[in-house]
Amino acid sequence: MNINLNSLVQKYDTPLYLYDFDYIEARYAELKEAFEGHKSLISYAVKANSNLSVIRHLASKGAGADCVSIGEVKRALRAGVAKYKIIFSGVGKRDEEIKEALESDILMLNLESEAEMKRVELVAKELGKEARISIRVNPNIDPKTHPYISTGLHENKFGVEINMAKRMYIYAKKSDYLDPIGIHFHIGSQLTELNPIKESCEIVADLVRNLKAIGIEIKFFDVGGGLGVVYRDEITIDPRAYASVIFAAVKGLDLTIICEPGRYMLTNSGYFITKVLYEKINDGKRFVIVDGAMNDLIRPSLYDAYHKIEAISKGSIDSSEYTEADVVGPICESGDFFGKDISLPPLEHNDLLVIYSAGAYGFTMSSNYNTRGRSAEVALFNGADHCIRKRESFEDQIELELSCDSSWQMTKNDI
Ligand SMILES: *Cc1c(COP(=O)(O)O)cnc(C)c1O
Repeated sequence: MNINLNSLVQKYDTPLYLYDFDYIEARYAELKEAFEGHKSLISYAVKANSNLSVIRHLASKGAGADCVSIGEVKRALRAGVAKYKIIFSGVGKRDEEIKEALESDILMLNLESEAEMKRVELVAKELGKEARISIRVNPNIDPKTHPYISTGLHENKFGVEINMAKRMYIYAKKSDYLDPIGIHFHIGSQLTELNPIKESCEIVADLVRNLKAIGIEIKFFDVGGGLGVVYRDEITIDPRAYASVIFAAVKGLDLTIICEPGRYMLTNSGYFITKVLYEKINDGKRFVIVDGAMNDLIRPSLYDAYHKIEAISKGSIDSSEYTEADVVGPICESGDFFGKDISLPPLEHNDLLVIYSAGAYGFTMSSNYNTRGRSAEVALFNGADHCIRKRESFEDQIELELSCDSSWQMTKNDI
């Protein structure tokens, strides 16, 4: 990588997340260009990386936001995403979340069940508003990805089957409090094959034509996110090919195409930097113990995901000196690893390791497990570095435990 890591580490310490903002905007531009000639909206999937500065950067280029909680909706609004570009998705929404979303006047709520539609109708009625909605169709297509990130099969909890969707549209059309303007599907994440996307588009576009024939005009065709990226050597989907299968499916229909990528724009913008604490050998097996852990980046533990790991060399090391090692963190779990059998040079205390492809589902999935403070996050943009989230301190972590019930247990005065 082309960055002076040592000086960044001196300034911000480790473990550390770095994001290349130039890369993020280039990926956004590439995708937007692929949709040229069509009405389109790229709604960034905030859950991939919800740092306000990341959202703001994309918003400044024209991106919308795909949100899966009211917290994410609020982040998007706070970061400057136009409200008419915000979508609120997710299988379960509390009444308060629905109410707040309707009051914020965002583009639409994406619904995933009949029961949810009835709740939204009730809340909208109480507010005297008409809720703009889309319905998430589960096209029952196997996306050929990891089962934990596959969402488009009937065995998954997401969306409604096509006949149910049709019944819901008919109901919504008649309701005074629902305005069905969109249709949505999202069959999974890290998709590397075009065919499942093509088939889903065709199934859902057929429903749009069906609805049109009975007087229900859908305006937004939301193809979800899920575009795969390269972690190791995956062959991924070309954005122009992606756009063209969507165009072909909706031919003749007057629709704005929405897509909701998260991973696509963020993954390879991000680097997780961690310091070597020491090495150890157990019965001939080499372990490199680092100061980052599964609480910082859980993808290897959770999905057995591959992330490229490299040592920052202090000069040239002969390849014969490289041996295989497991790179592990300090957390008390055997699942706390970043990589297994990684070829690495001999390492010393304070040497740096770079874990690649850490920009999406890295920091946002981090936790305080083992009372570890979350890492700092830094943006690299135009040759400069900017802190976009401070390292979490011990005091930050205990704050809410000291301010709960002042008449009982630990309070701030006990310190
Ligand atoms: C997670 C999610 C996305 C983004 O998925 P990526 O694989 O990061 O592109 C988009 N839409 C919905 C509804 C999601 O749940």
